Parts: sequence; C-alpha cells; structure tokens
Amino acid sequence: MAFISLQEAAGRLGVSLSYLRDLLDRVDRIPTVLDAEGADFWTSTTGVIHERDLRTYEHMLRHRRFVRLRERYADVLVEDAVLAIRPGWKSILEHVCDRIRWMPAQWSMRLRKAKEQSGYLVLGFEYDRDQPAAYNELERLREEIRLMSLAVCEECGRHGRFRYSPSRSLTLCDKHARLAEPVLPGDGVIADPASDGALLSELPHD
Ligand SMILES: [Zn+2]
Repeated sequence: MAFISLQEAAGRLGVSLSYLRDLLDRVDRIPTVLDAEGADFWTSTTGVIHERDLRTYEHMLRHRRFVRLRERYADVLVEDAVLAIRPGWKSILEHVCDRIRWMPAQWSMRLRKAKEQSGYLVLGFEYDRDQPAAYNELERLREEIRLMSLAVCEECGRHGRFRYSPSRSLTLCDKHARLAEPVLPGDGVIADPASDGALLSELPHD
C-alpha cells in the first residue's frame, strides 16, 4: 500500500499545504492522516496519507471550485468569475444563475462574483448600466440571496444560522459550527449581522 507525505499530496493536487490541511479538517478526514504518536496535525512534517485518497481530494477540489457549475452556467457567468464561497451554497448559486437566465437579454446580465462576507453571500454583476430596471432587479436579488444565505450552512448546505465569531463570522449548521469557534457573546441572538448592527455594538467587549 502506497503512502505519500502531506506535502507531496498538496503538490500533486496543486494546492498549498495549509489549504490541504484546512480541507482535511473541514471534511473530518484528519483521522486518515498517519503520523508518529502525539504528532500535531497542524505543524507536523511527517504526516502521510494513502496515495489512493488523492482521487477523493481531486474530486472534492473540483466540487469546491464549482467546475461543473461553471460549465453548466457558462452563458450567465463572466469568464473567470470569482466564486469564493464554500460548497454548501452551491444551490443558492444555481438559483442566482437561473434567475439571470430569465432576465431580459438586453440587460446583458452576467454574474461576476459570488463571495462570503460577514457570514452572508454577496454578489457582483456585469450588465448594461443604461438599463435602470436592471439595477432595481439586482438590488432585490442581492438582498433576497443575502437573507437566503443566512439560513444555509456554507459548508454542507444543511439548515444553518449565523455564527458570531471574532476571527471569522460564518453561517453554519450545528455540525460545522466548530469552524467559527470560538464564538462571541451575542452568538445565537444575532440572526443578521447587517440588520442587527446596532445590537452588535451594544454587546460587551472583553
Ligand atoms: Zn454544515
């Protein structure tokens, strides 16, 4: 049975070592890494994985880069569209793309960017700025998607809620809540970081 180091695995997958470690953590595969007893997963240089696991990770990376979605919706995405969100929001992304397909052709609407910011999904578009109706429709769509994303785990797509964290506020399900840990006072109270802004500033800081 062949084993390869994490470093080599990262190289063959075309990602950095820290990205690969992060991926293994997210998908609960840290226990599949073999290492000396007591070695720390995050800093050890001697950890190895089964070479055959590379295929699994290749598949995960394609999923995370939305390779198939980019092909399927090539008509409504700008070339090299930035899709900087985790796979749990894929269905929301598909919803956005479907909505664009129904927009009037003269708007020349294309999705340019989808990224996570403060725990919710923000969108960027390219379109004909001489079409005032397009702007109004976009504002509605942006807010609808923002609110939708605040109820869906960005990691897995199950029902989630906003997690208020000092390092990284995210919308996650109970299973993935650990990705936003530790959380701050106010976690579980704040459902929408944008509309609960006043509440945020009233919370105790220590
Ligand atoms: Zn989840």
